[in-house]
Amino acid sequence: MTTPLAEHSHALAMCTFCPKVCRFACPVSEATQNESHSTWAKMTTARQVADGQRRMDEGASNAIHACTGCGRCTTFCKHDNVPGETLFAARSLARAEGLQPQAAATTIGTFTRSGNPFGESLSKVVEHFKAETPMRYPLFPGCSTLVKRTALIDDALMVANAFGAPMGVCKASTRCCGYPLYAGGAHDEFAAHARAFAQTLEPYPELVVMDPGCAHTLSVIYPKFQVKLPSRIRTLYEVLADNLPHAPHKPPLDEAAGYHDACHLGRGMGQYEEPRALLRRAVSTVLEAPSHHAEGGCSGGGGLLPRTMPEASVEIARRQALEVASGGETVVTACPTSRRMFERAGKKSEDLVSILRRWLE
Ligand code: SF4
Ligand code: SF4
Repeated sequence: MTTPLAEHSHALAMCTFCPKVCRFACPVSEATQNESHSTWAKMTTARQVADGQRRMDEGASNAIHACTGCGRCTTFCKHDNVPGETLFAARSLARAEGLQPQAAATTIGTFTRSGNPFGESLSKVVEHFKAETPMRYPLFPGCSTLVKRTALIDDALMVANAFGAPMGVCKASTRCCGYPLYAGGAHDEFAAHARAFAQTLEPYPELVVMDPGCAHTLSVIYPKFQVKLPSRIRTLYEVLADNLPHAPHKPPLDEAAGYHDACHLGRGMGQYEEPRALLRRAVSTVLEAPSHHAEGGCSGGGGLLPRTMPEASVEIARRQALEVASGGETVVTACPTSRRMFERAGKKSEDLVSILRRWLE
């Protein structure tokens, strides 16, 4: 078996000979109604290419890129297979043949030139938020929030302060965690980036991470590439939940909100109750989707899908918003990427820290 997939050979074999047990679970095949996007078909394609039974071609490359890495198939898998990780590794085979979808190749090219997927320097934004005095908690907002939605950082800092857990944006935030390299199958580059990034965390015994995608990459994916961090990674939501007893005593807003379990926070980090505890303090009614916690749906924002399959990713978000808030209520999530996806799907959505701020004010 070709080297990048050698360590995934067992998972590939289990999926190939599986009677498609998780067929209903994949948000991509459900949105596209295309059998070649089912977990089974994508894994079978990857195995055929790795074994030399099939050449890597455009069809095979498109199939292995039709995955958000949401982990929902794993929830229903009796073998605990993690197809998302295998399919991301298989993308390196498409890269090697020059057959990666253009949008994914462009994202990796931008990252290689500028150290993040946006091609912008993050230093000025981080400088703007830098705390003047040392703070108890160094906050790592994530490059997507730094570039696209700095108001969210204001919300997080305000809420943390009100909870008696003062935070300041840390200097290490000028670098991306490297997720786009990982999701795009540029795994040698990802490992090198991760090792360099780990060194920048030396000053921080503890790092509070706002974006669940970054938190999952740092605490779950880095160790798989033998990169050890000097910092204990905590999510913003677990720190805020820990400090809920110190939050001001205020009645919740008289509002109903549906809660979307972000894949990387829930399945990725096992944090289901912390964000719910926060949301229940902020609003009077919290709605649950028929499938929630480990079985919860995906917003379509991961795995570079918004770039490689934009229409499918928006359709995934549209479907998930309907699940979570069938009456058109606001969808609340702890993942900034998910919130953007719901917005792109034309649904009402709010970040968890933003609704907490509204409650406090
Ligand atoms: S992930 Fe598990 S349930 Fe899904 S196709 Fe593979 S082996 Fe079957
Ligand atoms: S990780 Fe998610 S998107 Fe990828 S194959 Fe599994 S269910 Fe589908």
